[in-house]
Amino acid sequence: MIEQDASIYNACIRCGLCLPSCPTYLETMTETSGPRGRISLIKDVAQSRLDLRSPGFLEQMSQCLDCRACEAVCPSGVRYGQLVETARAQIRQTEPPEAPARRFARAFLLHSLFADLRLMRAAARILRFAQQTRLTSLARFVGLGEAAKLAPRIPSSFFPARGQRFEAHNAKGMAFLHTGCIMAVAFGSVHEATVRMLRRAGLSTIVPAGQGCCGAIATHAGEPDFARELAKRNIAAFEQSGADVYVVNAAGCGSALKHYGELFAEDQSWAQRAGEFAKRVRDVSEVLDAMDLGRAPRAIDATITYQEPCHLVHAQRVSAAPRRLLALIPGARFVEMDESAVCCGSAGIYNLTEPEMAARLQRRKVAAIVRTGATIVVTANPGCAMQVTAGLREAGYPASVKHLVELLDEAYEGSAKL
Ligand code: SF4
Ligand code: SF4
Repeated sequence: MIEQDASIYNACIRCGLCLPSCPTYLETMTETSGPRGRISLIKDVAQSRLDLRSPGFLEQMSQCLDCRACEAVCPSGVRYGQLVETARAQIRQTEPPEAPARRFARAFLLHSLFADLRLMRAAARILRFAQQTRLTSLARFVGLGEAAKLAPRIPSSFFPARGQRFEAHNAKGMAFLHTGCIMAVAFGSVHEATVRMLRRAGLSTIVPAGQGCCGAIATHAGEPDFARELAKRNIAAFEQSGADVYVVNAAGCGSALKHYGELFAEDQSWAQRAGEFAKRVRDVSEVLDAMDLGRAPRAIDATITYQEPCHLVHAQRVSAAPRRLLALIPGARFVEMDESAVCCGSAGIYNLTEPEMAARLQRRKVAAIVRTGATIVVTANPGCAMQVTAGLREAGYPASVKHLVELLDEAYEGSAKL
C-alpha cells in the first residue's frame, strides 16, 4: 500500500499558526477539524495507533477541503496537501468492493467522462437539453438537487482543442492554451477571452488536440494512477506543440499541472519530462501581468471584489498579479472582501461529498461579498464561479460573477470574433 512520508508529518511543530487560515476550523472551532489535528490523525494512522478506516479518520479526511491554506502559512513548510492526498489514496485502496451500480457510476463519471472528452461533450449536450426543457427540476426531485443547482448553464457552443492557432501581430512568443474538460464545455467564453488577451499581450496561441483533463479530480478522488494517465497526454501534447509557455485559466487545473513533477516522483521514465513540463506552466494572470498591457481603454463603472481561488493563492501562491491586472481597469472601484483567501466550499466534488460544510462556507463567502457592496465578483476558477453564483442567487444578491480574463477582455474591448 502507498505510504505516508514520515518527514512531512514530523515537520509539524504544532505551533497552531495554520488554524486561523483553515476554513473548517473557522466554522467548527474544533482541533480535529483543523490542520494540526488532522496531521496528528495522519501520524497516528501511519504509526498504527489508529485504524485507517476508523470513522473519525474517514470523516476528517473527507471534511478537509484540500485547499492548502494551511500549507501557505506554515513556518515549517509542512506539505499538507501531499499528506491528505496520500491518506485519501490509502482509504480508496482499502475500500470494500463497491455495489455494481456505484462501481458503474464511478467508472462512467471518472474514467469515461474525464478520459474521453467526446463523452464529456455528449454529457454537456444532454445537460443543456435538460436546462432548456427545465428537466433539472426533475433532477432535484430525484435527489440530485445539489448537482442541478450548481451546474453552470451550458452554452450553445464549446471550445474543444482541435489544433487551432491564433496569431498575434509581431508575436513575442507562442502560448499553449490548456482547454481542460469542464472549462471547454461550460466556460468556452473564458477561453476566447484568454486568447484575445494573450494576443493583446503579444503572444500567439496554439490549442493542440490530444490534451485534456489535468487529472485534479482523479487525484482528489484518491486515484493517482488515473491522474498520471491523464497527465501524460498533456505533457506529450505540450512537448510536440513547440510552445514556450503552457497557459491555464482555471486555478484548480493550474495547480495540478504545476505539481506534475511530484505526481511522477516515483516514475523514473516520466519524472524528468513531468518536471520540465511543470516549470513551463503559468496561470494566465501571471502571463498577462508580466507583459506590458497598458491601461485598459474602456472604463467599467462598478464596484468590484476578488474571490481568491484556493488553488491560485495557496497552491500556486499567485495573489498580487490578479489585483494588479484589475487595477488597469479605469472606473472600477476595487473593494477587498474579508477572508478573500478562505475557501468558498467548492473544492472539486466537495459539494456532493460534504454538502453541509460546503453550504456553511458558501454562506460565509456570500456574507463577505455582500459587505463589500460589489456588483461584480471576480474569480479565476470554474468551481468558485459556480459556487459563488449559486450562493448569490440563493441569497438574492444582485452581483454578477466573472472570470478575471472576461472582465479584462471587456475593458480592453475584446468582443470581436476570434
Ligand atoms: S502551521 Fe505548520 S507546523 Fe504549525 S501546526 Fe500548522 S502544520 Fe504544524
Ligand atoms: S487543506 Fe484547507 S481544509 Fe484542509 S486542513 Fe488545510 S486549511 Fe484546513
